[in-house]
Amino acid sequence: MSRIELLSPAGDLERLKIAVLYGADAVYIGGKKFSLRSRASNFDLDTIQKGVEFANKHGAHVHVTVNMIPHEDDLEDLEDYLMELEKRGVHAIICASLSVLKAAKRVAPRLEVHVSTQHSTTNSKAVEFWKSQGADRVVLARECDLNEIKMISKKTPLPLEVFIHGGMCISYSGRCTLSNHMTNRDANRGGCAQSCRWKYRMLKEDQFIHDPDCLFSMSSKDMMAACYIQDLIDANVCSLKIEGRMKSLYYVATVIRAYRMLIDRCYEGRVDEAFMSMILDELSRSENRPTSIGFYEGLPKANDQLYGVNGAGVTQEYIASVLEYDEQSQIALIQVKNHFEMKIEVEVFGPKYTKKMVLNDCFDMDGNQIEVANKPMQLLRTKIPFKVEKYDMIRKIVDKTNRNVY
Ligand code: SF4
Repeated sequence: MSRIELLSPAGDLERLKIAVLYGADAVYIGGKKFSLRSRASNFDLDTIQKGVEFANKHGAHVHVTVNMIPHEDDLEDLEDYLMELEKRGVHAIICASLSVLKAAKRVAPRLEVHVSTQHSTTNSKAVEFWKSQGADRVVLARECDLNEIKMISKKTPLPLEVFIHGGMCISYSGRCTLSNHMTNRDANRGGCAQSCRWKYRMLKEDQFIHDPDCLFSMSSKDMMAACYIQDLIDANVCSLKIEGRMKSLYYVATVIRAYRMLIDRCYEGRVDEAFMSMILDELSRSENRPTSIGFYEGLPKANDQLYGVNGAGVTQEYIASVLEYDEQSQIALIQVKNHFEMKIEVEVFGPKYTKKMVLNDCFDMDGNQIEVANKPMQLLRTKIPFKVEKYDMIRKIVDKTNRNVY
């Protein structure tokens, strides 16, 4: 039986590389066309090919979302696009429409076709239907609980993918028209304005029900299903998916690294309380919004929602990334990501290690000593007394009370 796949989002080539280096088995990206979030995507066909080459070199796959609900005028270039994806070595497409599935099977048969969560697949009969249409995998709806996932998996031979981490819709994914209604931006064609997360006042007819200053939102907490990884492996799920193509480099690195460690330990049968607590602590450092277990134990409760706050947990603890390192002089070239002062205790981490140190003096490219780093993207040189590599990161040590540990 093959090992479960860790599937990471990537919003651009840099994040794709980080995801692969930090432990993802596969990465899903959006192209410029036919994808939700297509407006934000940095992946044109040539960049997709570069991503495929990088991923393949490290033993990973690239999946491309072709998951908008196509209207008649969207169909024109679809077949050419699918053939291009196949030609450029993409492993799978993720689609939400039977017409896209059929087109892929017809013109690009080497592409695996995965049915998107946008299709709200919540039972084994629906999975059987997709299998009969030629699908290679189904991404179950986030609205399935753990028992349903187990039952569906038992009844169907088609590989199943489930979400384990990231943002949730307050509505059924793929069934919400709030954004369409309020902003004329179609959530199913990549335009969701996240209207559920706006701040609202509650009225009955023309009267405020609550204090008009008391605003609320309809957003849910982010999902964090680390405690269910062993169950999902035992249930023979084939892929564990992280949500968040718009998330930062730091988010991708910390979340993927934590789940990589957890999955590997599950296979070794060595997950004890102390290890799990370290993983949860690590995940709480990824600048999530507050988290809950989503639908894993059934319908989310009031405590799983964010009524009063919108709450991205931006702690600004990610202060720099390593661009280069000279082993002889131990001087690293780093790029500033967030404000920091000198001589603070920091953690330097890469895909397979974390080390603490006190940040040494930093110098700009003209050799001037820096008192405080407050220019994002500025390049600095500093001494790091152990070997680091490109894509390693430096973060502040932030008190737990400043993080979203829920
Ligand atoms: S408005 Fe909110 S619930 Fe609706 S699709 Fe967008 S994020 Fe999901």
